[in-house]
Amino acid sequence: MTHGDNSGLILPPKIAPIQAIIVPIIFDKSRSEVLEKVNQHINSLSDKVRVEADLRDEYTPGWKFNEWELKGVPIRIEVGPRDVKNEQVVIVRRDTREKTIVKEIELKDTIVKMLDDIQNNLFQRAKEFRDCHTYDVDDFSTFESIMKEGRGFIRANWCGSNECEKSIQDKTTATIRCIPLEEAEPTGKCVYCDEEGKYRVYFAKAY
Ligand SMILES: [Zn+2]
Repeated sequence: MTHGDNSGLILPPKIAPIQAIIVPIIFDKSRSEVLEKVNQHINSLSDKVRVEADLRDEYTPGWKFNEWELKGVPIRIEVGPRDVKNEQVVIVRRDTREKTIVKEIELKDTIVKMLDDIQNNLFQRAKEFRDCHTYDVDDFSTFESIMKEGRGFIRANWCGSNECEKSIQDKTTATIRCIPLEEAEPTGKCVYCDEEGKYRVYFAKAY
């Protein structure tokens, strides 16, 4: 299951190559303090979190925020001169866009907890999406008309033959996405042919 919104991807923390990206807000006067602080944060976080800092000079912070959002990095950490002075950082969650100010001393615990929270939130969203867009279908004309409108998942009986799946794909572009292990035994015919259904499976169109 992929995740995303209008600003691009949202990577689940468990698989994200970078879980937190630090973007320093740099002014000439405070440059060295801010960069030193960024280093401290990386050192303190890196045993628990896959964290990196975006130190490129040629881009503005705003440009970097957009880029990392697009790439789906779960958490952004902003460090500017005022944050250094107040011993705090600004944290932004990718999934809810929520912005929080966190004391440096609580940074590590907060990030670890937040990554967990984002993971659960995305899992829950995917589950809700699947549940509310799933249709139980027994006949192929209903199957075709639902897929024509491109609406979500169809749960239907399938005889298990590859040719049958291929024909369904040719007619609707939908393919089998998952054969649930815990699903009850199907009772009834394959949604496409006249054979007895062997599996109750989920179909969806490829996008
Ligand atoms: Zn069949």
